[in-house]
Amino acid sequence: MSTNYNPDNIFAKILRKEIPCTKIYEDDHVLCFEDISRAAPLHWLIIPKGAYINFTDFTSKASPEEVAKFFGSVNHIIQEHNLNGQGFRMVTNNGANGGQSVFHFHMHILSGTKMKERHEK
Ligand code: AMP
Repeated sequence: MSTNYNPDNIFAKILRKEIPCTKIYEDDHVLCFEDISRAAPLHWLIIPKGAYINFTDFTSKASPEEVAKFFGSVNHIIQEHNLNGQGFRMVTNNGANGGQSVFHFHMHILSGTKMKERHEK
């Protein structure tokens, strides 16, 4: 995996509004939008606006305030849409062997159905 953030990744282009997304929520710190290839009836992606490759890059390089604001916004989205009541899965793929294909940190939120108990290999 590259250790440098590539500003041409697709989520950076979405943040710059160079390509469209179906927006669910936006604030100063995060953008939440629908995943283009749904793996559940509700499949959203939440990304920070800062340039971080993945979870470990984000949590090691972002300020504690930025990390707290990101997860505060994640919680806000969850509460706003009553996802806690419905149940949901939150996943982040970290690195190519973790299944990551877009190298801008993102959390997947999946809901709207009974999820399988195990993750696929
Ligand atoms: P990951 O494999 O964890 O890096 O997740 C990347 C996700 O981005 C996949 O679930 C893709 O379906 C999704 N994706 C790729 N391009 C777009 C796009 N233009 N708009 C929304 N979601 C996208």
